Amino acid sequence: MNSPSLASRTRPASVVERVRHPFRARHVKLLEREQSSPGFVRLTLGGPELEGFVSAGFDDHVKLILPQTGREQPALPVLVNGRPTFVEEEPRPTLRDYTPLHYDAGKQTLTVDFALHDAGPATEWALLAPLGQWVGLAGPRGSLVIDSGLRWHWLFGDETAMPAIERRLAELPAGSHALVRVQLRNPADQRAWSSAAQLDCAWVDSLTEAVQTLELPSGEGYVWAAGEHSSMAELRRLLLAKGASPKHMRVASYWKLGTADHHEELGETPA
Ligand SMILES: Cc1cc2nc3c(=O)[nH]c(=O)nc-3n(C[C@H](O)[C@H](O)[C@H](O)COP(=O)(O)OP(=O)(O)OC[C@H]3O[C@@H](n4cnc5c(N)ncnc54)[C@H](O)[C@@H]3O)c2cc1C
Repeated sequence: MNSPSLASRTRPASVVERVRHPFRARHVKLLEREQSSPGFVRLTLGGPELEGFVSAGFDDHVKLILPQTGREQPALPVLVNGRPTFVEEEPRPTLRDYTPLHYDAGKQTLTVDFALHDAGPATEWALLAPLGQWVGLAGPRGSLVIDSGLRWHWLFGDETAMPAIERRLAELPAGSHALVRVQLRNPADQRAWSSAAQLDCAWVDSLTEAVQTLELPSGEGYVWAAGEHSSMAELRRLLLAKGASPKHMRVASYWKLGTADHHEELGETPA
């Protein structure tokens, strides 16, 4: 399903490899909106500036730069001393992190899935923005390429992790084992995922309760998880107590109850 520039094409030299990408910020147009299930809106963004878009890791993210009042196109950041910076003397636009789900190099389009929630600028934009509106995208700046040739893969998360999990399942090879547990608010948001890997997927009410019943497989594997901050912190403690290696585990907080625009890595994954 993923185009070559979205997939991890080669086996990395180590279990985890960090890949840096040249900084790019671009303007793209909102081309299509599809309400894929009650809790999700799938947007297609596109335009010639997507040329050369690269996303080498399934959990990469782009910064979505939301439209600004009074401007046809939002301001874009430029690199100043190695840091993306807004140099124009105007209020900084609103930025949020999203997973590039599918890049079509031929059509120069990028698909992004938005998990809808009560209120937030990105959610409102995803639901209500008129087709044809310009938005900005920055990144991905880097990718964490996790060897897909490992024997087993555990993937955990809530709705916000589903795009990354969907990408991972599309790239895992036959002969590997993928165990997926997704905590969903609404069972109607379940997806019929398939994978070349042997797949054990369950939709659960509580990730921590689900993980408590699991035993770590033998052999080399990797644990990946993303979701709400406190839930991920608890999950990480539980996984470590079960004997998961912190070197072969990435747990990320994709949002935090009561906080806007939150992103945090819980624990370090060495390169
Ligand atoms: C690396 C990365 C990749 C991500 N990929 C995706 C993706 O592909 N799809 C996706 O939908 N999300 C993704 N997220 C999560 C998304 O960035 C956040 O949910 C973001 O905060 C939403 O922005 P907002 O403007 O709607 O809400 P904000 O203005 O950020 O927050 C407003 C309020 O809503 C709450 N809130 C934020 N997100 C949620 C939520 N999901 N459920 C319930 N309450 C929430 C906040 O706690 C806050 O109180 C990703 C996050 C990261 C860090």
